[in-house]
Amino acid sequence: MAKYKIPRGTYDILPSESYKWQYVQNTFRKVARLYNFKEIVTPIFESSDLFERSVGDSSDIVEKEMYKFNDKKGRTFALRPEGTASVVRSVVENNLDLDANSTKLYYMGPMFRYDRPQKGRYRQFYQYGVEYFGSDNALIDAQTIALADTFLRQLGLKNYKLEINSIGNATCAKDYDSALINFFKPHFNELCSDCQRRLEKNPKRVLDCKNKTCKSIAKEAPSMLDYLDEECSTHFENLQKYLTQMKIDFVVNPTIVRGLDYYTKTAFEFIDSNLGAQSTLIGGGRYDGLVKQIGGRDVAGIGFAGGFERLLLSLEAEEIKIPNNDKPDVYLVTLGEKAETISAELLMKLRADNISTEFHPDKKTMKAQMKAANRSDARFVILLGDNEIEQNKFNLKNMETGEQELVDFQEMVRIIFQ
Ligand SMILES: [Zn+2]
Ligand SMILES: [Zn+2]
Repeated sequence: MAKYKIPRGTYDILPSESYKWQYVQNTFRKVARLYNFKEIVTPIFESSDLFERSVGDSSDIVEKEMYKFNDKKGRTFALRPEGTASVVRSVVENNLDLDANSTKLYYMGPMFRYDRPQKGRYRQFYQYGVEYFGSDNALIDAQTIALADTFLRQLGLKNYKLEINSIGNATCAKDYDSALINFFKPHFNELCSDCQRRLEKNPKRVLDCKNKTCKSIAKEAPSMLDYLDEECSTHFENLQKYLTQMKIDFVVNPTIVRGLDYYTKTAFEFIDSNLGAQSTLIGGGRYDGLVKQIGGRDVAGIGFAGGFERLLLSLEAEEIKIPNNDKPDVYLVTLGEKAETISAELLMKLRADNISTEFHPDKKTMKAQMKAANRSDARFVILLGDNEIEQNKFNLKNMETGEQELVDFQEMVRIIFQ
């Protein structure tokens, strides 16, 4: 048995799986580029205060799930539980909102939550996301949603649906909060202790609670949509108009509140019902007050995030085959001492021509080398023995068709690139 074990709730991405990760990450980069988003990379830990202020100290994430630690000088940091707070911190710190070229950002990387591990849910998990700063136009909400939709579609996913909601802004949310408090008060004793504690401070949390009793009471709760003021309801109508215009299907689901404190107006989720309890593929929304709250200018913002783990589960559930481009172009088989000596130079020449090559000098027989060539999944095998060396040629075998040709170096390169 191995002496050391991986920490609970984490996993290794092994070589047999890593091409899948490269594929979904490359696809995300490509789609972000289509919408002219630029990548931003922030540290995996930040002052814990940043998350407490932005995500909200009454949220599950901050209250129960954050990896907090003190460094040697006693400063309190946290491993980032989500991406938006760090991006907003960086935007404010670097004045990025003043630069038209860096108001549309995307990121990818590990996030951390101390949560009970289960299928599709880990303590270190990998997210991708975008943030769009500087506009509160509903067309920008629609564009952000469209980016997420384009991404899922380019991966070939079909069995997902988009649900949208509006949770209003500070003005109308206040009326809604009092309506919620009035609604839940008569049920106070039935609520779980978390909800009892949070009811006055943040009644929307009760709508988010996973407790069965809380859930069934919340079913009858008043809908935010009945409390939207004119500004927020116009914004929500415009969003629906644009989505319809863009032919992106959606349903309005008034129960989406998202688990974070900073959302305003638009909230949305891409749901894959194949995934059971962990059905949210992508979640996002508008956060118009957040930049100011973190010390920046009063700049509007909207974004989304999704987990790569669930995405891969979705691809598996829809039986979408992920192309594996992580294979060598060529496997070099050498026979005899002369060939082995020449191979040192030949391998360099092939790689200089951008041809990915593999070989195993410790395998001496033709049979052992051909076996290894098969296992490597190389598209071509170069057979090099005394005969070939004499003619200054190479025996090139196409592993798909079995075809074999005696060619010179230039011709060989040409065929490999065909
Ligand atoms: Zn409002
Ligand atoms: Zn509860």
